[in-house]
Amino acid sequence: MTPKEIFNEINAKKIIENLEKRNMQGFFVKTKEEALKLALDIIPNKSTICWGGSQSILQIGLIDALYNGDYTLFDRAKATTQEEIDTIYRKAFFSDFYLASANAITLDGKIINIDGTGNRVAAMIYGPKNVLLIVGLNKVAKDEISAVDRVRNYASPMNAIRLDKNTPCKIKGNCYDCISNETICCVTTITRYSKEKNRIKVILVEEELGY
Ligand code: SF4
Repeated sequence: MTPKEIFNEINAKKIIENLEKRNMQGFFVKTKEEALKLALDIIPNKSTICWGGSQSILQIGLIDALYNGDYTLFDRAKATTQEEIDTIYRKAFFSDFYLASANAITLDGKIINIDGTGNRVAAMIYGPKNVLLIVGLNKVAKDEISAVDRVRNYASPMNAIRLDKNTPCKIKGNCYDCISNETICCVTTITRYSKEKNRIKVILVEEELGY
């Protein structure tokens, strides 16, 4: 093993142990392919499934694989009106599995997200029977403060650029704490414990995923 692989394994083990203390379940895999296989092993056939905006779940090929399987999918990309999108956002709360990534995860096992509409963090907090997060180790932060800093000054600007939002971070590359209707940072959540044991499952992936 290379020093980097040893370092990553030490930190992944630490995060998984700390997730367990917080009533959440963690897994560690090295590649996108292993992440996809594990996700499909975790999600039973015939599950109802919804997901939030996430590059990571797309990058491991999970959505394509689900479309080739025996599941009921609530996919907002198939909606043609805002009303249909809103209906899918609400259906998420009744789904068996909600899929997403995290914007950051701390070494002590806290999950940090910053959301625009809020549908993604709302479903992570309550509703779906299971929440499955695919998180690249590139999203690991030392603590809450550095996690929020990571999201505000890296993940959100990257998403603002990707989504072509009219925000200062899209132009200047870091957060200006903007207050405008274009902001993608309306709500910040810190998941520090799950009341329901193992409702939240996290697959940590050594490969870089998302922002
Ligand atoms: S400038 Fe606005 S949209 Fe960009 S990271 Fe800061 S709060 Fe979020």
